[in-house]
Amino acid sequence: MAHTLPELPYPYNALEPHYDEQTVRIHHDMHHKAYVDGLNNAEAKLAEAREKGDFSLIKHWERELAFHGSGHILHTLFWENMSPANTGKPDNTLADRLNQDFKDLDTFKKQFSAAAVAVEGSGWAVLCWNPMFHKLEILQVEKHQNLTQWGVIPLLILDVWEHAYYLKYQNKRAAFIEAWWNIVNWEVVNDRFSKAVK
Ligand code: MN
Repeated sequence: MAHTLPELPYPYNALEPHYDEQTVRIHHDMHHKAYVDGLNNAEAKLAEAREKGDFSLIKHWERELAFHGSGHILHTLFWENMSPANTGKPDNTLADRLNQDFKDLDTFKKQFSAAAVAVEGSGWAVLCWNPMFHKLEILQVEKHQNLTQWGVIPLLILDVWEHAYYLKYQNKRAAFIEAWWNIVNWEVVNDRFSKAVK
């Protein structure tokens, strides 16, 4: 079953002025699409290798599978955890956990922003639930196929690859991150968290 590019859950211009239409359009239609295509291609090549019993290129295709698979998953979560109106906030369950693990919401946002600003090169900042440690973690993702904590459940995702902000914000990644807090969809984050801790 081939993977398909999910539709955005809102119009391309819905996140203006914080996230401009042109960047969202290119980011979704071209960058995210390339991950979906790459993932389908890797899966097809691996099926072909199994068919032929020829695993001479296994390292290459497993890498492609991890790279494009992670890119597809993280972009999908990223689009979902934004919304046009900045009306929501962490519900009581999530707020309690944020307070427990990060002192308070403001300190959480400061740490998340600092982590996002400091991602070296291309990558992501991710708030996730680690069921083994039973706590919330903020992780930096460099080269999104690497550096994961296996088993964590991503809750809030921020894309800080240059393609995510360069048209409007150029080298001012911190300004993009500051604006981005206005378009976080906390309802989705609340929902992901309540499912994660069950
Ligand atoms: Mn991206």
